[in-house]
Amino acid sequence: MATYQTTLLGREEIAAWTMAFHLAKPPGFTFKAGQAIDVVLGDQASIDDGNARHTFSIVTAPHEDKLTIATRMRDTPFKNRLKDLPDGAAIGIDGPSGSLLLHNRHERAAVMIAGGIGITPFVSILRQTASDPQLRDLVLLYSNHRPEDAAYLAELQALERSNAHFRLVATMTRMGNSSEPWAGATGTIDAKLLGQISAELAAPIYYLAGPPAMVAAMRQTLNDAGVDDDDLRSEEFYGY
Ligand SMILES: Cc1cc2nc3c(=O)[nH]c(=O)nc-3n(C[C@H](O)[C@H](O)[C@H](O)COP(=O)(O)OP(=O)(O)OC[C@H]3O[C@@H](n4cnc5c(N)ncnc54)[C@H](O)[C@@H]3O)c2cc1C
Repeated sequence: MATYQTTLLGREEIAAWTMAFHLAKPPGFTFKAGQAIDVVLGDQASIDDGNARHTFSIVTAPHEDKLTIATRMRDTPFKNRLKDLPDGAAIGIDGPSGSLLLHNRHERAAVMIAGGIGITPFVSILRQTASDPQLRDLVLLYSNHRPEDAAYLAELQALERSNAHFRLVATMTRMGNSSEPWAGATGTIDAKLLGQISAELAAPIYYLAGPPAMVAAMRQTLNDAGVDDDDLRSEEFYGY
């Protein structure tokens, strides 16, 4: 991993309690869709107490001219520092890191499973594949409590409409707390849904990203259904 200096270009709210931060792409920085960076913020004291560094998947695709990260805003030392940064502030980043990269063999399908803000690496991958002339079957299972929590949902729905090889299955698990309409799936991603999806696909490889408990549960469900660990790649978002 290399270290770079960059600047905060701006921010926007993309879902409830969820912000995207846009960073300038430093000269010479390259990455692959699905990879992450460490964002380093803070003084020597926070570096010493281990609070200055957080890992974030890159939302933007490699061909885009900026680096975007997205996160649930919470009352933690790191996120308070991030929230208070003025536009134009200098930020250190280390990276890229991570191996949640789409497989090369186009004849095999990809099933991506995202819990909440675990969507970030898959937005990069899906933006990248939208400009990829080699077709492959892609399915995204995207679980949130409510539609208002689902970052990038409208973009993903638009990507599904424009790509006959991409299917989005978004599901909401707490519609009782929602004030938005939702005509899609409800309930958690379970063995039955995974079985229905997988039955229609050619030798899928599975990609998981989200809170550690969700990733562990999905991995167990897939293993129980006979999916080999060789066909399973995952990224755990610690702290959720
Ligand atoms: C590859 C990767 C990509 C990620 N991408 C995103 C993203 O796109 N968006 C996003 O919001 N979050 C992402 N995360 C999680 C992110 O780094 C933060 O942990 C998360 O946002 C919670 O931060 P917090 O300030 O809210 O909580 P904090 O209070 O800072 O909680 C973080 C907790 O996680 C623990 N922790 C941190 N790293 C590890 C570790 N490696 N092993 C075990 N425990 C650990 C800390 O000890 C701390 O208790 C990613 C993590 C990884 C590893």
